[in-house]
Amino acid sequence: MSLDLTRRDLILADHLIDGRWCGAAAGARFAVTDPADGSLAAVDAAQRALPAWRAKPARERAQVLKRWHAAILAHQEDLGRLISREQGKPLAEGRGEIAYAASYVEWFAEQAVRANGEVIPAPVGGRRLLALREPVGVVAVITPWNFPAAMIARKIAPALAAGCTVVGKPAEDTPLTSLALARLAQEAGVPDGVLNLVTASRAQAAAVVDVWLADARVRKISFTGSTPVGKHLARASADTLKRLSLELGGNAPFLVFDDADLDAAVQGLMASKFRNGGQTCVCPNRIYVQDGVHDAFVDKLAGRVAALKVGPASAADSQIGPMINARAVDKIARHVEDAVAQGARVVTGGRRLEALGPNYYAPTVLAGATPRMQLSCEETFGPVAPVFRFRDEAEVLALANDTPFGLAAYFYTRDIARAHRVASALESGIVGVNEGAISTDVAPFGGVKESGYGREGSVHGLDDYLQIKYVCEGGLG
Ligand code: ADP
Repeated sequence: MSLDLTRRDLILADHLIDGRWCGAAAGARFAVTDPADGSLAAVDAAQRALPAWRAKPARERAQVLKRWHAAILAHQEDLGRLISREQGKPLAEGRGEIAYAASYVEWFAEQAVRANGEVIPAPVGGRRLLALREPVGVVAVITPWNFPAAMIARKIAPALAAGCTVVGKPAEDTPLTSLALARLAQEAGVPDGVLNLVTASRAQAAAVVDVWLADARVRKISFTGSTPVGKHLARASADTLKRLSLELGGNAPFLVFDDADLDAAVQGLMASKFRNGGQTCVCPNRIYVQDGVHDAFVDKLAGRVAALKVGPASAADSQIGPMINARAVDKIARHVEDAVAQGARVVTGGRRLEALGPNYYAPTVLAGATPRMQLSCEETFGPVAPVFRFRDEAEVLALANDTPFGLAAYFYTRDIARAHRVASALESGIVGVNEGAISTDVAPFGGVKESGYGREGSVHGLDDYLQIKYVCEGGLG
């Protein structure tokens, strides 16, 4: 790969198992080995490494994570370039993702030493009751392509902080960033076998993960990805009753009330809708605008969207890069065609940008969207903003909640009573009120309904990797 990195040894294509780089399974070499073998070897290594890692004083685990955090930031430029190159997001966003990923490593380094238990007042004399928080054991992490660094970091960091060991499979479209992060983790002092990564093509993904699903030594799965795969993992891990953290698809509503600050609402939508080309699970997918401000909002939005600069991730002024693959851009085109066939109006965009390459799609605003359109029922995952018109609060809440998903929701209003009312009524794990950029390591990220369960980041993020042991000490009287 021709890529201008200061450390070319961060471009890796092998599995990392028990501290050794082996197996040559990524990129063009995907087909060479059977990744299921690597997958089993990874669990063996993680199981072997578990007793020593969980026994390490939390402060020492924290120090390893702090060194990893520093190494990630020290290589921010290289890693940012790697992300942009393999995932397609503009370089500024690639650098930003590295800082965001590093923030999770730092946060969980700080949380590692706070996994306090409890002493419970005993109901009878001569006893002491303890609730201890212990690591769940070997954790399997499976990540998507849209945030190749952040998704890996916010699963691996809490797992290591809690004293768990890890087997992981990065997405087939973006293994390189994850492997580079693992190399830096090794250099930071993560012991052999504590972090193992197996890469696989899409065709081989199920074979790799099936080994982990069947293996009773794997006590937990942490997955970010599509709802069908998440449901499959939940079903298939029932036999060994694994713990699960599932961060699945969303269908985020974005509500603009008549009393909103319109410029702030447009700004918030631009930040949340067009980040990573619209390819995030918290991107607004349905934009509901109240009658009184509808036309003004659409005008302002269309002006901003038409001005977005589309181009390769490597160009300094690109704001929207290519979509991840042909499957993704086909889905976007299908959603727009379906919407137009059902009466939506293209205000700006609405077409592929073939002159730039096969995977580019123009940033798009559609007016006149309605609930039966495909883009209302499922995530478009691209730079398309469909605007729906609504009359009143009750109507828009019913529309916003009329989905099996519940990850993020956003709304803009200057009425404080409405702000509290609507934040309570929205069925989602995350709500942005007059704010479009909501993700941070210090807050709990996760969904309700079919967007999954479990929380990443915040004090709750560590709990997903800990289990409680009740110890009753008697005979103390
Ligand atoms: P997307 O459609 O965004 O690629 P997926 O849910 O298909 O989302 O992919 C997320 C992650 O799940 C990737 O690492 C992918 O390889 C993995 N994956 C895909 N299919 C399966 C499967 N059948 N079993 C286990 N993992 C899978």
